[in-house]
Amino acid sequence: MKDITVNTKLAAIIGTDIGHSKSPAMMNAAFQKTGLDAYYYAMNIKEEDFGAVVKGISKMNFVGLTLTIPYKIQILPYLDEIDPLAEIIGAVNTIKIVDGKMIGYNTDGAGFVKGLEVDCGIHVPEHTFFVVGAGGVSRAIMTVLASKKPKKIYLANRTVSKAEEICAHLNRTFGEICEPISLDSDLKPYIDQATVLINATNIGMPPYDDQAPIDLGLLHKNLLVADVIYNPRKTLLLKTAESLGCPIVNGQSLLLHQGKIAFHIWTGLEAPGEEMYQAVFG
Ligand code: NAP
Repeated sequence: MKDITVNTKLAAIIGTDIGHSKSPAMMNAAFQKTGLDAYYYAMNIKEEDFGAVVKGISKMNFVGLTLTIPYKIQILPYLDEIDPLAEIIGAVNTIKIVDGKMIGYNTDGAGFVKGLEVDCGIHVPEHTFFVVGAGGVSRAIMTVLASKKPKKIYLANRTVSKAEEICAHLNRTFGEICEPISLDSDLKPYIDQATVLINATNIGMPPYDDQAPIDLGLLHKNLLVADVIYNPRKTLLLKTAESLGCPIVNGQSLLLHQGKIAFHIWTGLEAPGEEMYQAVFG
């Protein structure tokens, strides 16, 4: 580990259960490669201490923070500024600290969509999306997708009221793009129209690793299939899609690209993606 001095800039991920976070390895690889005197670490913070910690950090030698569960919404009252897309999402996972001021961003949706664009050659306006899951990550992905004016986004969720709420919010903001669907309904007509299918649920990771979020018989060759899960690297959904000849992308892409965007926000530098990837998945 490098020496940390009085001049070292700090960054950290804050959550309540982040012992297994891959972000420190990824971000420290980026700082090391770019030669910056900066260090990123992981902090487990109790919910009752969150406000005091955040206020203290704003007075210290920090360039930025990553927020994870449960703090992506709890951080909002402490921000001095918020990026317009993060405001629409209603959650912040990245903070830049400038002269004690905290500016909030959400890099989850932007990172996921960047992965589709640069790694898979997807041009969002040309596609119809079918997204499963309406939790925090889905909301961020849906917002960035809708902001880029795709042909259509179908959003299916077990609790359909959550899909309805996200779609109503995004349709008010960006025009009539999103349509909510119950996961129990006949999904075939919607998936048949889609060219990109995205799993944004927990289905596919343990203890649901023998399950898929949709009937796998509905997959077709014209789909690119993406999953937010990276453990396992290939969920049952991705394995089945790959066997049909569909291009696939797993959650490594989201993790990497959201980290690259955060690094750029903090430093103004282009993030060294290869070193960041190798540090976590190599
Ligand atoms: P969340 O807010 O808790 O949302 C979970 C979603 O999964 C909800 O839509 C939920 O449906 C659905 N779901 C959960 N169990 C289900 C079941 N048994 N059957 C059907 N649907 C079910 O979680 P999140 O923060 O959005 O995270 C979602 C996934 O993203 C997780 O797997 C997480 O590991 C992954 N993730 C990946 C990255 C990355 O860097 N790659 C980053 C963050 C998160 P209901 O609304 O009906 O409950």
